[in-house]
Formats: sequence, structure tokens, C-alpha cells
Amino acid sequence: MEKQKLVVIGNGMAGARLVEEVLNRGGGEQFDISVFGEEPHGNYNRILLSGVLSGTHDQDDIYINPLEWYERNNVKLYAGVRAIGIDRRGKTVYAAGGHLVPYDKLVIATGSVPFIPPIDGLHDDGALRDGVYAFRTLDDCTNMIGRADDVKDAVVIGGGLLGLEAARGLLTRGLNVHVVHLAAYLMETQLDSQSGDLLRETLEQMGVTFHLEKLTTDILGEDRVTGVCSKDGTEIDCGMVVMSAGIRPNVDVAKISGLNTRRGILVNDDLSCRNDSDIYAIGECAEHRDVTYGLVAPLWEQASILADRLTERNPGARYFGSRVSTKLKVMGVELAVAGVKEPRDEQDEVVTYVEPGRGIYKKLIVRHGHIAGAILLGDGMAAPR
Ligand SMILES: Cc1cc2nc3c(=O)[nH]c(=O)nc-3n(C[C@H](O)[C@H](O)[C@H](O)COP(=O)(O)OP(=O)(O)OC[C@H]3O[C@@H](n4cnc5c(N)ncnc54)[C@H](O)[C@@H]3O)c2cc1C
Repeated sequence: MEKQKLVVIGNGMAGARLVEEVLNRGGGEQFDISVFGEEPHGNYNRILLSGVLSGTHDQDDIYINPLEWYERNNVKLYAGVRAIGIDRRGKTVYAAGGHLVPYDKLVIATGSVPFIPPIDGLHDDGALRDGVYAFRTLDDCTNMIGRADDVKDAVVIGGGLLGLEAARGLLTRGLNVHVVHLAAYLMETQLDSQSGDLLRETLEQMGVTFHLEKLTTDILGEDRVTGVCSKDGTEIDCGMVVMSAGIRPNVDVAKISGLNTRRGILVNDDLSCRNDSDIYAIGECAEHRDVTYGLVAPLWEQASILADRLTERNPGARYFGSRVSTKLKVMGVELAVAGVKEPRDEQDEVVTYVEPGRGIYKKLIVRHGHIAGAILLGDGMAAPR
């Protein structure tokens, strides 16, 4: 039987995982597989970038599928090649460098892009200027590490999960680190104000300086970055800036190709696109039942379900959404959160245990006898004494 052509756009955690899952189900016999990856590397564990920045992991240790893996498994990888669009009528992906690759089944796994707020002095020729970094890719990470060797002070814009991991990483590299955050307390999406404040105190004791309720308006410096300025006129001197103000699903290729998108690429329970049943979307770029995710657990579930369908191991497999929990990977801080952070109404029971002096805060929200949310910060081992 002639093999079908399976093309994947995006060689990140979702795209590469899908290829692995397909191969694990014997899909190598069913499909000729091609993958477009804009990054010039094999697939690596993006989660461990925080470890690379803080020096606990070496860059070479974080590869899941190095370039040889693709060759060994007969997967054609277009490394460093951006897919530009999809000719859906002709069922062909067109990509930078003039590549045209036909497909029978196409999977879009283009992930997210960092949200870059409008700030004066951020860009040079359309790209982030030298000395200003996003925190998304291995190249971002190595560029940051290179700059960290040359400067004394860094500003991280954004006090969410990734911003704090970046801050801790740069602190470990010996820099004075300032975090500028718009909200009144840290990680406001996942934490309540009491745990957010306690987390800030714990990180302050480690040496991070926080500037809360500040809107950054300008990056200062002509040839080199020299500081940042907030709307209220506060200036902070620094030699590098890390932008960590959130992420947006990367829907560029889908949108330009006429697929239905909202925040993400709209998919059905079989993970196919709403208006094209031969194209699927998984990972952070996909929007399923009004939800887009920013964590790996959902994409692992999606990759497994889609592989079941594509290989016909389980042609009826469907995705119903994921429950997610998050851990902050900051050396010396134990923080895990899941579900809701506040009670919905008086029916919800809230159980809290707080030891401010030891940086411990534990909160459970119980709904109808089940845990609807949890914040677990600090413990006897990890909290500062
Ligand atoms: C520093 C950091 C720490 C994190 N820590 C955690 C954690 O502790 N726990 C957790 O659950 N999650 C964590 N995450 C989030 C997790 O990494 C993501 O959820 C996951 O990587 C999403 O996978 P994805 O494949 O959807 O996107 P990505 O892994 O971003 O992969 C998308 C890939 O598609 C490529 N691409 C985009 N457009 C094109 C195109 N047109 N043509 C070709 N290629 C294209 C991109 O270059 C990228 O390589 C972290 C993320 C970062 C950045």
C-alpha cells in the first residue's frame, strides 16, 4: 500500500511528540513524515530552558530528539525552515527557501509567541534590539547567557511564572535582578494576594528586587541598553532586559491559510480544524472548547489522541480538555498550583495554613467534596529559615 504523506508544521514539544507517538504506533509504515521547524535545532525540552539559564542544565542535555534522531527514524526535518502558508486546495505546504511539500494529513503545532507590549525603544529594524530578550527559545536563552556575562544589572518585565524563573536564573549568574510587574502581586493568574506577597518576600530574601504596579514605557540607551523607565517616571539602570509579559498562540500560518482562528486555531474534539478536516492543530497554538493552554501536559494528551486517530489505532479517540497544574522551577522555592485560586461562592470550603516566617502558605478550595483548587507554597525543607 502506498504511504500517505504526513506533514507537521512546528518541531517543538507538541509537533515532535506527535511524530514520536505516530512512530510508536507503527506509523512509519503508514506515513512518509516531514516536519518544518523554524528553529535550527532538533527538538528540545523547552521547560528546561529555565535550568539552562540558571546553570543547572547544560544546553546539550535538554535535547529530546537531536538532529540524528530524525534521520534514524526516516523523518524528513526541515530544520531552520519556516512554513509560510498552506495551499489547502492543492494540499501543499509552502515554506521559506521555496520548499513545497504535499500532504495528505497536516498537523499545525506552531506553539506560542511571547507577547511584547508596546514600549518605546524596544525594537531595532523590526526585531527586539540588542540587549532585549524574549524567553522562549534556546537561542533566546544562549543570547541572554552571553549578555549576562557582560553586564551587572538586569530587568525582567513581568512577574509571572516565566519572568520569575528568568529572574532567578540571572540572579544565579551573579546579576542584580529587578522584576517590574504591572499587577499588585506576583503570579496573579495563579496565586491569591497573600501567597503572591509571601512569594515576593521569599524571592526578596534571595536578592531579587521587585517594582510592583509599574507600567514600563521606555527602554533607555542609544547604542546599548542602559535602563528602563516606567509611566510614573521611575528609572532602573540595567544592561539587559528580559521581556516576559505573557504569550499568544502562534496562529500566523493558520490565519494566512484561511483556517478558523480566534485566540488560537479552532479545533474540534478530534483535534481537526473547524473548517478543514485534513488539517489538525495541537499544542499551545490550538484552541479547544474556548481554551488555549500554556503547559505541556495538555499537548502530551493531544499528541497521543491524534496519533491514535491518524494511525487508526483508535480512530474514534477524542480530546475532551485537560486539567492542569503548575510548578514554579525556582531553586529554593517550592510552589505548586492547580485549579481555581479563589472560592466561587459560599458553598466552596477554603482551608488555609500559613506560616509567614517560614514562607509557607497552603490553601485548598473544596467543592462538593473534591479539591477545586490548591496553592502550595514552601515547605519545611525548602522554605527559608
Ligand atoms: C522557559 C520556559 C519554561 C517553561 N516551563 C514549563 C513548565 O515548567 N511546565 C509546563 O508545563 N510548561 C512549561 N513551559 C511551557 C511549555 O514549554 C510549552 O507549553 C510547550 O513548549 C508548548 O509546546 P508547543 O509545541 O505547542 O510549542 P513550542 O514548544 O513553542 O513549539 C512550537 C515550535 O514551532 C515552531 N514554529 C512556529 N511557527 C512555525 C512555522 N511557521 N514554521 C515552522 N516552525 C514554526 C517554533 O519555532 C517552535 O519551535 C515553559 C516554557 C518556557 C519558554
